[in-house]
Amino acid sequence: MEKQNKACHLVLVMVPFQGHITPMLQLATILHSKGFSITIIHPELNSPNPSNHPKFAFVSIPDKLTPSRLLDRDFAGLALSLNKNCAAPLRQCIEKIVHSGNRITAVVYDSLMFCAQTIADELRLPGISLRTSSATTLLFLTVFPQLEEKDFISRINSPELQALQLPRLRASLSQYPTGVMAEVRVAFTNAVKSSSAIIVNSIAFLEQEALSNVKQHFPASIFTIGPLHKLAPTIGSSILTEDDECITWLDKQALKSVIYVSFGSMASIDEHELIETARGLVDCEQPFLWVVRPGMVRGSEWIETLPNRFKERMGERGRIVKWTQQKEVLAHGAVGGFWSHCGWNSTVESICEGVPMLCRPFFGDQMLNSSYVCNVWKIGLELQELERGNIKRTIKKLMVDMEGNKIRNRAMDLKEKATNCLMEYGSSSCSLNELINHIS
Ligand code: UDP
Repeated sequence: MEKQNKACHLVLVMVPFQGHITPMLQLATILHSKGFSITIIHPELNSPNPSNHPKFAFVSIPDKLTPSRLLDRDFAGLALSLNKNCAAPLRQCIEKIVHSGNRITAVVYDSLMFCAQTIADELRLPGISLRTSSATTLLFLTVFPQLEEKDFISRINSPELQALQLPRLRASLSQYPTGVMAEVRVAFTNAVKSSSAIIVNSIAFLEQEALSNVKQHFPASIFTIGPLHKLAPTIGSSILTEDDECITWLDKQALKSVIYVSFGSMASIDEHELIETARGLVDCEQPFLWVVRPGMVRGSEWIETLPNRFKERMGERGRIVKWTQQKEVLAHGAVGGFWSHCGWNSTVESICEGVPMLCRPFFGDQMLNSSYVCNVWKIGLELQELERGNIKRTIKKLMVDMEGNKIRNRAMDLKEKATNCLMEYGSSSCSLNELINHIS
């Protein structure tokens, strides 16, 4: 198989967000290991470091985006600008590769870069869409918005979909400005429907009923080959510099005692949320490792607004860092809970290490992921109110109290199931083999 693939050249098209860059680079690593040659076309913003990936060719295209656009919470607008600004240079770039005589087997694009499918269609190349979120988000972006209330309700009559509390989630999506969101949805839907295959960084058993629902709506074959980070574990894809003392600090903590806190690469909080979170963490008396990205607290550079008395009470028991090697942190024996914004990558990474989650979603698919964690898989608790007493109680319940025992046991069971999916005849391994055959 690998020999046969040597002649196959894949062009991968990236979007410039951390939660999308990493899975795309992981996919590139996996496909390269199967014998494909890889060219990665990426926007200038948040460019990956080519020296970390010497086996791939990298081509950068102008995007006219500034880093501040990533913090302004208008994700539909951002996706639209990205596609509008990148379409022409992306097309030129792919045409140049075609004209150089380097035959392209397929264009594999992040599903948010939907203009790539149009370009692939025009150049008569197969387009393959990579969904870096759950398969269920495909229903949210393409199918559900078009359904009348009664059709929507009748569609969600299976136990998994009912447990998800989809009507509540559908209502929460109405917070986005409709014009721009509608434009994004149409373009996204058209692209996914024209693609020759859809790759999802998910595991079949996690969203079985949603997946069979998705399959009814899309003609393309769907390959759930996740968790990608376990198939391509060693790539350097962080945009920010990782704090290299975290693991040494974790080594000194008791088994399963640490609550790890991270809200991913894009969510932001205000000063009141920073202080309430800090107080809750200090009050709960568990050791904590807390990622506060520079600029994550709106109006501040970092954590300068935290009162000194908090820092004194925190002492050696807590550690605040700007960025960390999250996958290694979650895999560390000292970590017993993950307070997360429920980005899809963070959710899957937590599942793979059997770490129960404290969920505080901010926007987009994070609400859906949190609902999976708390209501379907039952491996976490939702933090409904950001108040220090509630934070303390919920962390204790998740990590220490008898009440949380079942949650912790289920998290370990899910880890085992996720590991099995990567075994020789596991669902993800089989799906990956089918994907390679499909592309070849
Ligand atoms: N991450 C990391 N170090 C940190 C915080 C996050 O490496 O200190 C990684 C994390 O492992 C995950 C990604 O950043 O792979 C965040 O993606 P996710 O989908 O969870 O959230 P997003 O950033 O897209 O909101």
